[in-house]
Amino acid sequence: MTALETDVVIVGVGSVGSMASWQFASRGQRVIGVDRFSIPGPFSAYAGESRLFRKVYAEGGHYTPLLQRSQDLWRDLEKISGTRLLNTTGAVTIYDEHNPRLASLLAAGKENGLDYEFLRGDEARTKYAEHVIRDTDVTIFDPEGGYLKSERAVTAALVEATRLGAKFLGNRKAHSVEPYGDRYIVRTDQEEIIASRVIISQGNGAGAVCKELGVHLSVLPQILTWFPVVDPAAFCREDMPVFLRRAEEDGRSDKAQFYGFPSADGWTVKVVASIFLDEVESMEKPPTWDPQHLDTIRAWVREFIPGLIPDPVRVATCADGHLPDTTALFGGVPGMDGVVVAAGFSGHGFKMASALGAIAADLLLDGTTATDVSFMNPARFLGPDTRLTSLALS
Ligand SMILES: Cc1cc2nc3c(=O)[nH]c(=O)nc-3n(C[C@H](O)[C@H](O)[C@H](O)COP(=O)(O)OP(=O)(O)OC[C@H]3O[C@@H](n4cnc5c(N)ncnc54)[C@H](O)[C@@H]3O)c2cc1C
Repeated sequence: MTALETDVVIVGVGSVGSMASWQFASRGQRVIGVDRFSIPGPFSAYAGESRLFRKVYAEGGHYTPLLQRSQDLWRDLEKISGTRLLNTTGAVTIYDEHNPRLASLLAAGKENGLDYEFLRGDEARTKYAEHVIRDTDVTIFDPEGGYLKSERAVTAALVEATRLGAKFLGNRKAHSVEPYGDRYIVRTDQEEIIASRVIISQGNGAGAVCKELGVHLSVLPQILTWFPVVDPAAFCREDMPVFLRRAEEDGRSDKAQFYGFPSADGWTVKVVASIFLDEVESMEKPPTWDPQHLDTIRAWVREFIPGLIPDPVRVATCADGHLPDTTALFGGVPGMDGVVVAAGFSGHGFKMASALGAIAADLLLDGTTATDVSFMNPARFLGPDTRLTSLALS
């Protein structure tokens, strides 16, 4: 079996892995990235054209510094690649006034001094004419929100990392990382790679490493749908905000929501619902969807966005790895100096991927980072004295 040597191995070259490759390469490190699919690949968690970016964040104000650093890095990557990656259209969240998430959304804005606009009634109906606004609805507009062209952003980072000397090896699966003298050896099904630093960023393939870290990773495929527009002018405006909406009817959970984007192709709008297929072990063989999986999103589109024809013309599945507390594992692995894990982004990791790549480089090259990521402590599901010496990766 071939043996390779480098400074940094990136296991899983998806959203976080591509950004880490760019960041380590830009700090003069020799990088080898490995992925079980092609690089960029079809089944990674960033597939499907676009991902929301928001600053006023219902998940909590503790994400704000991370999101600020990400925003700066997306702009850097735009300059490097000469392409627009982060479209700042603004983001409108439409909630029933009784939604428990409304308070945390407003608190995230207030505590961090972020701008937002709060509307209801006819003012909201005039501003967001594409949406049905009910009397009990309120709208919160985040002017710094928008969307990332996710596949484009990953490709831009890979191109820059390659220009800086990074090497990428696709279509091989990593199986383990073990100590090798004062370094580590990463074993794939095609080679062994020796390095002093390792980033484990396996996305929905991180089940084995999460198990080692004491927590179950649920791989939950989600359906992406594209609905045709009745009047293209309404959904193709440069300034049409991305939108999120709670759909709380019928006693559904307060997490039942859908969101969407301005039209990217001039005739359809992408809408994504918080509706998941059954948990799968892996996306190595992506699951198929049945027509009844589309019933709820069809009904929501019919009710809330009348300018769309409520039958999708394009459907795709894509999965993230979800953790019980919806907070990722990110940071050093206890007992394994030189190893950083990034896993379990639970449906909201793309917007922060650029900063996570940079913070991984801070942690492994400087030994510390100025951006607080302690709330994602990867040791939080382990006993306080647990120290690991090796990790299974599949
Ligand atoms: C439908 C959907 C909608 C979403 N919407 C948003 C949104 O609007 N905004 C937002 O911020 N986030 C969103 N997310 C979440 C976000 O896309 C993910 O959190 C993020 O892309 C995860 O990045 P990652 O690097 O962990 O995983 P990935 O990008 O999937 O990268 C992991 C890589 O590891 C590889 N890999 C796995 N196992 C192995 C192995 N053993 N050996 C080698 N390679 C391996 C995989 O092939 C993959 O390429 C959404 C996710 C989904 C599924």
